[in-house]
Amino acid sequence: MPIPDEKVEEVRTAADLVEVAEDYVQLKQSGSRYMGLCPFHNEDTPSFSVDPDQNLYYCFGCQRGGDVFKFVQEIEGVGFLEGVRMLADRYGIVLPEEGADSEAANEREAILHALRFAARFFYRRLTQSDRGRPALDYLRERGFAPETIKQFGLGFAPDEWDALLTAAEEEQIDPEILEKAGLVIERDDGSGYYDRYRGRIIFPIFSHIGKVLAFAGRILDPDDGRDQPKYINSPETEVYHKKEVLYGLHQAKRSIRQSDEVLLVEGYTDVISLSQAGVENVVASSGTALTEQQVAVLDRYANRALLLYDADEAGERAAMRGLERVMEAGVGAYAVELPDGNDPDDYVQEHGGDAFAAYIEEHRQDLPSFAYQQARRQGDLKMPEDRVEVQREIIGSVARIPDPNLRREYVN
Ligand SMILES: [Zn+2]
Repeated sequence: MPIPDEKVEEVRTAADLVEVAEDYVQLKQSGSRYMGLCPFHNEDTPSFSVDPDQNLYYCFGCQRGGDVFKFVQEIEGVGFLEGVRMLADRYGIVLPEEGADSEAANEREAILHALRFAARFFYRRLTQSDRGRPALDYLRERGFAPETIKQFGLGFAPDEWDALLTAAEEEQIDPEILEKAGLVIERDDGSGYYDRYRGRIIFPIFSHIGKVLAFAGRILDPDDGRDQPKYINSPETEVYHKKEVLYGLHQAKRSIRQSDEVLLVEGYTDVISLSQAGVENVVASSGTALTEQQVAVLDRYANRALLLYDADEAGERAAMRGLERVMEAGVGAYAVELPDGNDPDDYVQEHGGDAFAAYIEEHRQDLPSFAYQQARRQGDLKMPEDRVEVQREIIGSVARIPDPNLRREYVN
């Protein structure tokens, strides 16, 4: 369903381009304009300008320019309608839903509201309560600075059955909505609900525009004797589709766009540690193998993806599949293995961000060299027949690259 023109104009009027652009660019006022480093090309001196009176932008370097809709389309890689919807969302303008009744839209809104409330609740419990102290101490010991904790919205769920439930009820948030948001679980006997996250450090999972969609809860003390999983994750909900979401994208997107490269790691803490150390273009596929939908999202932001994997057989297999998936989408794909079984979190805590950046620059492998290395390690290259077989597999993977020129490069 098209969006009525008067609604489009309402959004255009409400959307302040300076404010919108500042999500991606640091702007400084200069006369009647604002200037900053262009988010669309790499540069050292600012040539990106925003004219707040006309609500237009222009880059003197790459000549890109336009209105607030064009900006969102270009920076988010979305079409016109989705761009209008994103801005409408941000400025609280209700648009007619595509084919959906307004009841469904209201429920979605209510779920998002409950998630936002929960994120704030967990954050306050971590940073401002005595019960949260051990969790906060633990995060500090892991080297997370207060600004980092804030930036990633980390929190703490008290070890109680109804801490969140009670707080939400005081805010008139319906328990049924909490349940639909994945925050509480209905009791078997139907007598009510209880909190899903108890006694855990909370990692909110944001959408690429910074809406809280879900949570992961990590056990505070992995050896506390109770037989519990290390992580508990939100279930799939109306607003959370695990396959489409990349952890850390909201915080990373500016850096990904500027470097034209994205790092893929496995864990939430890998993302946070790297980002804190200044390696900001990093996301995680949050506990799943990299999906086609996630690659499609990355494709909007960068032309190259670098996969960091664990140096065990499972990690190597996942890396190979990931490389193929990324290449199929026409995005450049590289794999890096960190030395001595380090995960990115350990490595960067020990050696720092610059050493990490230098290491991954030097040790990245494209798919063919990665595949050869794996085969060599497994002893699969001794006989000519084995070598031909490995070659055949590589050619099979390369054949799926959509760009014929790039394909040819790989074959040579
Ligand atoms: Zn530019």
